[in-house]
Amino acid sequence: MTFQELHLIAPILRAVTEKGYTAPTPIQEQAIPAILQHKDVLGCAQTGTGKTAAFAIPILQILHKKKESGQWRKGIKALIVTPTRELAIQIDESFREYGKGTHLRHAVIFGGVKQFSQVKKIEAGVDILVATPGRLLDLMNQGIITLNTLEIFTLDEADRMLDMGFIHDVKRIISALPKKRQSLFFSATMPPVITKLAGTLLTNPIRIEVTPVSSTAETVSQKMYFVDKVHKKSLLMHVLQDGSIPSALIFTRTKYGADKIAKFISKSGIKAEAIHGNKSQNARQNALKNFKTKQTRVLVATDIAARGIDIDDLTHVINFEIPNEPETYVHRIGRTGRAQNNGMALSFCDADEAAYVKNIHKLISKSIPIVDTHPYQMTSPPSMNKHSSSTKKQGQSNSPQKKKKRWYGKR
Ligand code: AMP
Repeated sequence: MTFQELHLIAPILRAVTEKGYTAPTPIQEQAIPAILQHKDVLGCAQTGTGKTAAFAIPILQILHKKKESGQWRKGIKALIVTPTRELAIQIDESFREYGKGTHLRHAVIFGGVKQFSQVKKIEAGVDILVATPGRLLDLMNQGIITLNTLEIFTLDEADRMLDMGFIHDVKRIISALPKKRQSLFFSATMPPVITKLAGTLLTNPIRIEVTPVSSTAETVSQKMYFVDKVHKKSLLMHVLQDGSIPSALIFTRTKYGADKIAKFISKSGIKAEAIHGNKSQNARQNALKNFKTKQTRVLVATDIAARGIDIDDLTHVINFEIPNEPETYVHRIGRTGRAQNNGMALSFCDADEAAYVKNIHKLISKSIPIVDTHPYQMTSPPSMNKHSSSTKKQGQSNSPQKKKKRWYGKR
């Protein structure tokens, strides 16, 4: 399918050509026609699938056509709510790029910075608003934002909203929306609470599911390193000494851990920065900019800070710690191998994290190949039958040949 076949208007076609897109991604093929027909959409899609354009393009087209036909009134007509500041900024940037020739006005609001310039922009008139939940509710409560003109509401990354404790804020926002509206709902996973929330928001939605979260992109090669906790930092330095890793996004479980690792790497002369929720908005944006422009080679991030971050040509993701939720692993490694590029995901697993790896294997229905040639091999590796969640059996042989077979089956 081509973008022309989606009946997109000329300015948007020009914009996607300028971006270098040759064909719509599967979610775009399905979501764009449905949204253009004013249908509600329930999209189950992981990041990296082209989800942002899948909703931004039809929203721009609907509003542009409305403006041209003279059926136009002032006020916010499209609202996109997303969990993090980074995502909000990226989505707003997408509206700017895809909407270049449409003259629609867009703005982004998020917390952690003074509201003055955001308020000024809103008061000057905005058609499309991208917001994080807290700042949006705050400005609604102050009477600066009203949603009575809203026509299209998009809830992005609903499952992450839940993880971050925003669910009540989201419910409050939904209750303030006009009853007559089009609603779009995107989530990478669909736990029962999220399905219930979707039910309250959507009317007869078109369901779109692309590359479920349980599958990892074919374009990402995965490797597992079993290593004792005390040797993880040494292993990291060993891995980073490989010149074939031009840039790496490293994940840690905690903010403190992210800072510690970034400092440790910097000391060795490799440029590294950390990004997490305790950093100021400016510090986070600068770290991201330095990484994107390749001024820093390594960015160390927590899951929440990095979720959805779009870094072109990111070649390597390193899981310094294994996430306890298997879906998080899929999200993390989805930061690389995007839009047809190849990527590599390296994971460091210590004895305490073996159970998490078993759950990841179960979720992705395959075993991650191990690297058994590194210099920091775990002294007594856990047993790990393929897709089994049973815990380590005592007294098993640690012979490398047997181990490989028992843990990973076919490679
Ligand atoms: P998203 O899932 O929205 O975070 O998008 C992931 C990446 O895919 C971004 O870098 C987009 O610029 C890129 N992208 C979106 N649509 C297309 C397309 N049709 N062809 C190629 N790349 C795309």
